[in-house]
Amino acid sequence: MRDKVDILVSNGLIVTMSEDRRVVENGYVAISGDRIIDVGIGDGKEKYVAEEMIDARNHIVLPGLMCAHTHFYGLLLTGSPWFMKIDPPTDFQQNLQRIWWALDVLLSHEEAYASALMGSIEFVKSGVTFFFDNISAPNAINGVLDYIEKAVNEVGLRGYLSFEATQRRSLQEGVEGLKENERFIRKNNMDEAKLVKGAIYLHASFTVSNDLFVRARELADKYHALLSIHAEEGLVDVYHNIERYGVRPIERMEKLGFLRDDVILVHVVNATDDEIKIIRKTGAHVAHNAMSNMLNAVGVAKIPEMIEHGINVGIGNDGYIFDHFENMRATYLIHKVWRRDPRVMTPLQILEMSTVNVARMFKVWKELGSIEAGKKADIILIKPELPSTPVNSKTVYGHLINTVNSRDVKTVIVNGKLVMKDRVILNIDEEKSIDYVHKVVEKLWDKLLDKGEYQLDVLEKP
Ligand SMILES: [Zn+2]
Repeated sequence: MRDKVDILVSNGLIVTMSEDRRVVENGYVAISGDRIIDVGIGDGKEKYVAEEMIDARNHIVLPGLMCAHTHFYGLLLTGSPWFMKIDPPTDFQQNLQRIWWALDVLLSHEEAYASALMGSIEFVKSGVTFFFDNISAPNAINGVLDYIEKAVNEVGLRGYLSFEATQRRSLQEGVEGLKENERFIRKNNMDEAKLVKGAIYLHASFTVSNDLFVRARELADKYHALLSIHAEEGLVDVYHNIERYGVRPIERMEKLGFLRDDVILVHVVNATDDEIKIIRKTGAHVAHNAMSNMLNAVGVAKIPEMIEHGINVGIGNDGYIFDHFENMRATYLIHKVWRRDPRVMTPLQILEMSTVNVARMFKVWKELGSIEAGKKADIILIKPELPSTPVNSKTVYGHLINTVNSRDVKTVIVNGKLVMKDRVILNIDEEKSIDYVHKVVEKLWDKLLDKGEYQLDVLEKP
């Protein structure tokens, strides 16, 4: 008598990312409801019968990839004529003032929705099943997270959303941002059935006063919610903190009692060795965004050193390139050349930074990050189109980082439901959705060209 399951994935090369990093050649994964109920050798057909049988011959079966940090709205500016109109920024601060802050003050709920729809499509297509998004839209704060949630739910992904609270112009603006996070957390975080949850986000320590830091920490404690902030991305962050507070950003956060193991520090490009020790001591996590850091020319974060110190690091995209395989490859390469040491960063470490490490960061390791019985069924199937050498348990990590492309991701399962099959996204009409997004973007670009201006505002003097 065979047990009935919902999905049976058979004959695949299963990269479990379990504690012992077991790889099963010619294995099966049985899924019932939203969970994996069994992982074994063979096709599993002697034990199970399924509504949906998926032949994974010549496929790598991997836990869904997890993106530690993104901004869906970052997609809205790809190729924009706005870049032709402005004086090219010469540093990180000008980059914010001339590009991102000129954009975010114009954003509406609809544009946030459209960007999340596009971002979710791009994530599915590159095998990302879990992400953490942060929106900045100072003139569309109230309710904006519901619009992003709607798009994410339509595509069928899992993730965390937050509003980027900032005090660029006033404390009130920052408080409103935190309120939006609180509203969303109250609405979603206690509801087991919801795939999209809320977290608390502060923009960066150079746009946030001590008062807002303390309010954010209190909220996190009240709701047992995660806290995140851009930290030491550009030198402006370091100089501002030294000038106003006499300490560097991570030192200031520690003094304020902000840093704990529920904090995700994003970037940490300019941290000193002492600050790395503080991060380790407090148990805070780091989201690394190699490609965004290269684009913004802010420098190279000391990621290998952080890992050597035992800091938990995950890979994000910071709203730049949504193809996670590109971000993994960039992370794999940049630290080798920066340290002039080819031993730095292994393919397995890169995969850990896109699966189990992110699960640990978001405190969902009991549910996500690996393919094991009892965990939620977030799984992707990859068929390498041009593997130069045999793909097996000994070579698979190298292939995943060096030869696989996002176009090789064929099938995506989230929470036990098929979201993409043979590269077709199932829950939405992809072509119509992309047409819609492009129409919204064209209108936004007109608005930007008409009304866009440099936003020179930074935090008021305390
Ligand atoms: Zn960011």
